[in-house]
Amino acid sequence: MFEPVPNQVDFVEQEHEMLDFWRRSDAFRKLRALNEGRSTFSFIDGPITANNPMGVHHAWGRTYKDVFQRYKAMRGHDQRWQNGFDCQGLWVEVEVEKDQGFLTKRDIEDHGLAEFVTLCKQRVLEYAAVQTEQSIRMGHWMDWNDPDSLRELKALLGEDPTRIITIVGPDGPVTDSVEQMVGRLGLHELGGSYFTFSNENNYTIWTALKKCHEQGWIYKGRDVMPWCSRCGTGISQHEIVTEGYQELTHPSIFLRFPLRNRPGEDLLVWTTTPWTLTSNVAAAVHPDLPYVLVEQAERRFWLSKGAVDNAVRGSYSIRDERLGSELAGWTYDGPFDELPAQQESGSVEVHRVVLWDEVGEAEGTGIVHMAPGCGAEDFKLGRDLGLPAIAPLDQGGIFVAGFDWLTGTRVGDSAGPIFENLEDKGILYRVEDYTHRYPVCWRCHEELVFRLVDEWFIDMGEQLEKPYEQVTAEEKETRLRYQIMDAVQDTRWIPAFGFEREMDWLRNMHDWMISKKRYYGLALPIWECQECGWFQVIGSLEELKARAVAGWDEFEGHTPHRPHVDAVKIRCDSRGATVSRIPDVGNPWLDAGIVAYSTLRYRTDPAYWAKWFPADLITESFPGQFRNWFYSMLAMSTIMERRAPFRAVQTYATLYAEDGRAMHKSWGNAIEFNDAVFFVL
Ligand SMILES: [Zn+2]
Ligand SMILES: [Zn+2]
Repeated sequence: MFEPVPNQVDFVEQEHEMLDFWRRSDAFRKLRALNEGRSTFSFIDGPITANNPMGVHHAWGRTYKDVFQRYKAMRGHDQRWQNGFDCQGLWVEVEVEKDQGFLTKRDIEDHGLAEFVTLCKQRVLEYAAVQTEQSIRMGHWMDWNDPDSLRELKALLGEDPTRIITIVGPDGPVTDSVEQMVGRLGLHELGGSYFTFSNENNYTIWTALKKCHEQGWIYKGRDVMPWCSRCGTGISQHEIVTEGYQELTHPSIFLRFPLRNRPGEDLLVWTTTPWTLTSNVAAAVHPDLPYVLVEQAERRFWLSKGAVDNAVRGSYSIRDERLGSELAGWTYDGPFDELPAQQESGSVEVHRVVLWDEVGEAEGTGIVHMAPGCGAEDFKLGRDLGLPAIAPLDQGGIFVAGFDWLTGTRVGDSAGPIFENLEDKGILYRVEDYTHRYPVCWRCHEELVFRLVDEWFIDMGEQLEKPYEQVTAEEKETRLRYQIMDAVQDTRWIPAFGFEREMDWLRNMHDWMISKKRYYGLALPIWECQECGWFQVIGSLEELKARAVAGWDEFEGHTPHRPHVDAVKIRCDSRGATVSRIPDVGNPWLDAGIVAYSTLRYRTDPAYWAKWFPADLITESFPGQFRNWFYSMLAMSTIMERRAPFRAVQTYATLYAEDGRAMHKSWGNAIEFNDAVFFVL
């Protein structure tokens, strides 16, 4: 009556039998046909980075996606079944640089931008194929591309991107160049997974940024940003809070700033970033802390009373005591006043003691050296006080002209020579190792520096001094921050604490830095006049064509990537000059944030969009996505339609490795998906 049950179970074999049964019976296609036209369940897949093979931590998240979709399919709901691949940005560039043995941005430019961008696209196609195979192996049902056809596109792209090919899609044959065919992946005429490098994804972001610009929310900001000198790019706040710190030890230095009108007296100053001393402008004290004049070995120096034990070594006596507020305005000789950069910026005349409430005495000397061009807080205080800002480093982290013997030196090699120089000048007090949590590049682990740069931002709207509930409709009108918070009210979070986490992020986030000084990614659609500062944000390919005054022929037929799109020039509305696109590419969270529009045909098929938007469910891991994908989806959708892009979001904890840490390929604690599925007992 029953089939005999074997007492030795080979699970791997069983899995293969099941996969084979699904294949033979065409089960997935039959399921879709069965539910077609019934009530919808709209699931939007958060794109996986197509940059490496999957780890088991990826498979874990994909299992949730599969379970929800299968359950809803069994309940008879029609679904889109579209997987997503995240394709653009620094993560892909870094891997291609490694493959090619490139060390700096110069290597990329020497290789050729068009060729480099092609290599990046090829890498994405390769790993999209690998991840597709792996997902099929784990039994994940989606409308998958044939992995071999992705590899074929990869090969063709490397041979001749302009070659005309024909692919048979769900609605019939599609003919286009290889480059454009790759740019059309995921569109309904080709089916399969969506790719964030697609034309539609890029142009829909252009539409969103145009809407932002119409609200006056796009601006170019001069700010001091965390900066990776190896990648040559600013790192956003979002990226640092997620995974950007390491415990590191650096030499810190105590040194003297001689006071100009108080002979024989100095300020004792401390810093953990000696390179910034070259760009010193002021010294800050706390107005309410007591400061003492210490005499030691025939020298006298000021520091806060509470810092004496920590800072001073050897015997000393105290000669005077005053409140910080009494020190304000004292002028001093800076440690590098002989440098042209100091003199030309006017800093030498400005050097003085300023008051700042943020000064503490728990470490250091209670006197903070201020270099407004080298630190975020220094920059803000400097701006409030009208101080000059000196920017010593170029984008590769090398001292620029104006720094004499330091010009051409890498910032990482500068501490030793700077100590020697200060020793020669007789103002070095002592050097001491200091261990602190220091920001590093989340991609390449280079230690970050803070650098004065021009970057592009979306204005999130000032934070008002009152709870969200009391913000008026009128106040919301000009503030994206509160509009996004409105949208969040219509969403359900599972588990429920996610709601507060997201609201908390929205309350406190800074403006969104959307630019990166890199090569492969969204071409930010900003054309900026170098003569007058006028800029325009272009919202579509058609608008660009209408405004183009040069370079259109060079661009036509290409996907909207560098370098081809850079050829197109428009005219300045203000004075008629010929204007180029800014060279920056976009933050990749713009790419993933727009998918509730780009993949649901917002620009081309409003009825389809209305049918599938918003998603009934999205699911990804926390905590990172509160600041990344959930946030960027909410922000982009609020910009587009002032609505939430999803009704419900299920979040799950990060999968930890045996060592109790999150799995990272680079930490060596990740388990490769293939190891897990092919070598199970
Ligand atoms: Zn880096
Ligand atoms: Zn102009």
